[in-house]
Amino acid sequence: MNTPDLAFEALKKARALLEVSAPLNLDCGRLCGAACCQGEGPGSRGGMLLFPGEEAMYPQLPEGFVITPDNGIVPDGRLLTCAGTCRREDRPLGCRLFPLAIVLEGNGEPELALDPRAWPICPLMPSGMAGLSADFVSAATEAMRALAGANETRAFLIRQAAFIRRLQRPLWESGAVS
Ligand code: SF4
Ligand code: SF4
Repeated sequence: MNTPDLAFEALKKARALLEVSAPLNLDCGRLCGAACCQGEGPGSRGGMLLFPGEEAMYPQLPEGFVITPDNGIVPDGRLLTCAGTCRREDRPLGCRLFPLAIVLEGNGEPELALDPRAWPICPLMPSGMAGLSADFVSAATEAMRALAGANETRAFLIRQAAFIRRLQRPLWESGAVS
């Protein structure tokens, strides 16, 4: 199997694993009014960076979905934004993983981590990984291993991890405080 096919198969597997597993064994969106789907304020749209090849999974965009270029995290990134609701089977992988992120550096092993971008909005953050459903963490772990095995996706994960690491740096290291 060539690299793009491998990445596509890994993506399909990861999306399938996380189609049924959710962060809690109940609908966590009811705890917070689905805060992660509401964007950053009135009129803004929620959304997620797509994984490499994921755009091909939307030959027809569901109502309310828009895909635009976004180089903020990775070069040639594709950002899916939405109107704040979607069917579970339409959800992009980043939304299925949230509030987790896959962290990968160089030739290292991938790790699951709480995504620091979730802190301002997600009430699951204070209880940490231990507060998440064991089935969800296990599905995310299997998805992570599949994704990190595909070179194209691995490169994406490394770039995304660098972005996450920058968010995690203390202010005095980032130069914001002198
Ligand atoms: S913000 Fe957190 S608790 Fe709320 S729907 Fe999203 S993942 Fe669930
Ligand atoms: S795509 Fe769906 S899960 Fe993701 S932010 Fe939009 S409504 Fe929420």
